[in-house]
Amino acid sequence: MFVTRFAPSPTGPLHLGHAYSAILAHDMARAAGGRFLLRMEDTDLDRCKPEYDALIQEDLTWLGLDWDGPIHHQAPQIAYYNARLEALDGKGLLYPCSCTRSDIRAALAAPQEGIAFNVYPGTCRGRPMASRKPGDALRLNLAAALEVLAAADLSFTETGPAHAGQHRVGPDAALRQIGDVVLSRKGEDIVAYFLASAFDDADQGITHVIRGEDLFDFTPVQVILQHLFGLPTPVYHHHRLIRDDQGKRLAKRDDARALSKYRAEGATPADIRRMVGLPNP
Ligand code: GLU
Repeated sequence: MFVTRFAPSPTGPLHLGHAYSAILAHDMARAAGGRFLLRMEDTDLDRCKPEYDALIQEDLTWLGLDWDGPIHHQAPQIAYYNARLEALDGKGLLYPCSCTRSDIRAALAAPQEGIAFNVYPGTCRGRPMASRKPGDALRLNLAAALEVLAAADLSFTETGPAHAGQHRVGPDAALRQIGDVVLSRKGEDIVAYFLASAFDDADQGITHVIRGEDLFDFTPVQVILQHLFGLPTPVYHHHRLIRDDQGKRLAKRDDARALSKYRAEGATPADIRRMVGLPNP
């Protein structure tokens, strides 16, 4: 059974790029006779707002997209994600980190195109977990994790047009490009987006992850985490991004492209499909 999801963060209104992603995932699920789920990635408690959550549901319904089952929210699961993270502590793969990097939070909460991770120089790597102070982040000791996974088949199947094929996650490239990622945010005990999302994809039985190409670079770290936690690896489909007239990827701050604005101006769902280059059913 083909199971996919649309997983927005309710930090702003949906724009044309989200509409493209949601319609594509919905249509692919329906064409395969599968399931289309809705997940709110709302662990950024400062930026996520109930009014955006409601607006997202309203926009999707207006677009004619129906999701299967109840909406899954991540915020109520924060304690559960943290409890699961402890399994890595048991294997000696985590360490506390007090390095101040103002961009860590931004990188975790809102992945930016082209800057997937800031490869961490390893300053705190020798610290034992017992030295963890309340304000510390938790990092994965990637070299140690890759040793544990030496015999694992770290690979994933990609069906998106830009990178279609089988991808192997090589240890050398992982160390160079991913490094010791933050798995739990500094001072907040909130697990990183790519970890919560890997847990949820497994818990929700997602077989196909359909999402924007800006998240392609996060896939190797998700594959590593899936193997560390004994989770299955779904098929990935990273789709093209909808860009503005200057060729820049649309972001939540681009309210000018908000779906609600087009709706208010009288556009129809068929117009939106045409604007993002998708066929009308
Ligand atoms: N919540 C992420 C976003 O809004 C999507 C994560 C995913 O689809 O894996 O960009």
